[in-house]
Amino acid sequence: MWNPKATERGNSRSVIRELFAYGETLRRTAGEDAVADLSLGNPATPPPPAVTEAFRTLLATEDPLTLHGYTAAEGDPVVRASIAAALSRRYATEIGAEHLFLTAGAAPALTAVFFALTEAPGDEFIALAPYFPEYSVFATVAGGVLRVCPCDPVTLLPDTDALASLIGERTRGVIVNSPNNPSGVVYDRVTLARIAACLTARSREIGHSIYLISDEPYRELVYGAAEVPYVPSLYPETVVCYSFSKSYSLPGDRIGYVLTPPTCPRAAELLRAVAGAARTLGHVCAPALMQRVVGAVPDARPDIAFYDRNRRALMQALSDLGYAYVTPEGAFYLLLRAPGGDAVAFSDRAKREGLLIVPCDGFGLPGFVRLAYCVAPAVIRRAVTILERIRQDLQ
Ligand code: PLP
Repeated sequence: MWNPKATERGNSRSVIRELFAYGETLRRTAGEDAVADLSLGNPATPPPPAVTEAFRTLLATEDPLTLHGYTAAEGDPVVRASIAAALSRRYATEIGAEHLFLTAGAAPALTAVFFALTEAPGDEFIALAPYFPEYSVFATVAGGVLRVCPCDPVTLLPDTDALASLIGERTRGVIVNSPNNPSGVVYDRVTLARIAACLTARSREIGHSIYLISDEPYRELVYGAAEVPYVPSLYPETVVCYSFSKSYSLPGDRIGYVLTPPTCPRAAELLRAVAGAARTLGHVCAPALMQRVVGAVPDARPDIAFYDRNRRALMQALSDLGYAYVTPEGAFYLLLRAPGGDAVAFSDRAKREGLLIVPCDGFGLPGFVRLAYCVAPAVIRRAVTILERIRQDLQ
């Protein structure tokens, strides 16, 4: 009749999407105040002013035929050159337009990279727990298999001994996501260097490259002194998958890129494989208007103070209420240790009160729930009121 795997995936929405859809219905039937939706990473702060201004200017001044027309499959060369120049300035390196393939966000970037790196069905990719659950879909679609490397239970950083033992003949790539969804942990230079040393040693032993796939939608979202190193400077065979969704507050408008940096041996050839994979998957010509917008303001930055205020308010309230949580250094997610240890039960309990938080079992981290604090401050206040009520009930 039709593809049973596709049907299965269509029927089984992610837990996050499930909660978000539930929240939308509740909002419609019971009103805005009945819901505190901390399920989805959907920024409730507008795009940086420079981004909004770029939209206006482009719409007012550009020929609409060019503005909305097809671009080259890999993206407009002028836009790619502009992003490449911005990255080169930022990382003191020499990235060119030929190293970039523009995509409709990080999801198609990752899908294309998994697909390009899979040589034969059954090839393996390793995600470092806790990890974005869609990696498993992306790897499977490419014909690959996703394996999961556990993390240290306290720091939530990857266990590199476990990583070394998971790497085998079939390993094609390891995915790093820092700042991390769902933990908010930022991998420091030492951690990345440890991962790099592990991959270098193991690729020598197994006799072929292991790529580091750096998934970076939250690169710009860091608090305090946390540093997000440029990963290719620590491990040359890195492919970067970037998204403007979170940093430019426009996740619905879909724009991002794959970068095969010049540090990567045969970087241009690898980019052609990514282009071929994207073509196979139907991901060509990222939205043209969005390409022009990010090309016009490649250095725009998010309003980090907005997220930081929410982060601090939430942490203070959780401490006051006696909840255990992980202090986030980046992204806009906070991990709460589920009282009683059952994250699904705790998420269900919260859902009955209208608080939507995501159990992290599917992220490879049972026992925790994820709170997306990229919401309006009033939603944080509502969430705290509900958490207070639940806490009283639990005592
Ligand atoms: N990777 C991670 C870690 C994410 O959290 C997300 C989205 O939340 C994505 C990739 C997908 O990003 P995009 O919306 O740009 O496709």
